[in-house]
Amino acid sequence: MLLALISTALQAQTLRASDAIAQIQHRYAAVPAATTVDTVKAGDPEAVVTGIATTFLDTMDVLREAVRRGDNLIITHEPTFYNHRDDTSYFKDDPVYKEKRAYIEEHHLVVFRLHDAIHAGATDHILMGVYRALGWENYPHPTGPTGQYFVTIPKTTLGEIARALQAQLHAQTMRVEGNPALSITHVALVPGSAGLERQVLALRQPDVELLIAGEASEWETVEYVRDAVAQGRHKAMILLGHEVSEEPGMEECAKELRVLFPSLRVDHLVAGQPLWNPEQGPAAKKP
Ligand SMILES: [Zn+2]
Repeated sequence: MLLALISTALQAQTLRASDAIAQIQHRYAAVPAATTVDTVKAGDPEAVVTGIATTFLDTMDVLREAVRRGDNLIITHEPTFYNHRDDTSYFKDDPVYKEKRAYIEEHHLVVFRLHDAIHAGATDHILMGVYRALGWENYPHPTGPTGQYFVTIPKTTLGEIARALQAQLHAQTMRVEGNPALSITHVALVPGSAGLERQVLALRQPDVELLIAGEASEWETVEYVRDAVAQGRHKAMILLGHEVSEEPGMEECAKELRVLFPSLRVDHLVAGQPLWNPEQGPAAKKP
């Protein structure tokens, strides 16, 4: 027992970021897709891990807080450098990009993106985090491979559910489309920015009245919903904000990583919402 404890403690002192990352990847997907965006974005993967920080997105403030806490392995769900593939060619001489990268390097941080693997598999862990945050995890889901994205909730109206979601998730810039009096029981919950095709596919399901998403292009899914409503279809959409729709999933991830690395500190650092509205003003500074 004592030997096992000593060995775990030694492991914690010498665990390299590359080994931790391999274990994290394996935790969520046995075989990562060849084209995955789940890669190291900056830093030296051979660094010894001093602590892990999970977050929706490694903003400057998240990076600073990680440094303050002594966490050097950053597990971010979304890109560090402002585009899906973290392609930095466009930003080579950009002052914002250069300062962020320099901060990561100067403080010997290692940034790994955990996106595809945590969404993939039989269970989408980001989705489950949102269900838990809403207390919806035990509501019925239809069977089938994508059934987890559909949920039957107690009968409500669009106006009521919008107010409830705003209160529960503290959404700063939630947007709602459709008739507030529309009766809602069948919901598609698709966190993040799944894109036109997946969002329309969800809305096209005959009994789905409401799509709850993180964000959607105003000239794509938003206009599809507008036309569907004008045609008299019982459809509606709520856009929570991307961070609001996925941060709870990365908070769950921190809990899962604490099990995976019992002798390491694992913090969840809330990225917070970047946008504000004139009525409420900016959110309190986080994390
Ligand atoms: Zn996501």
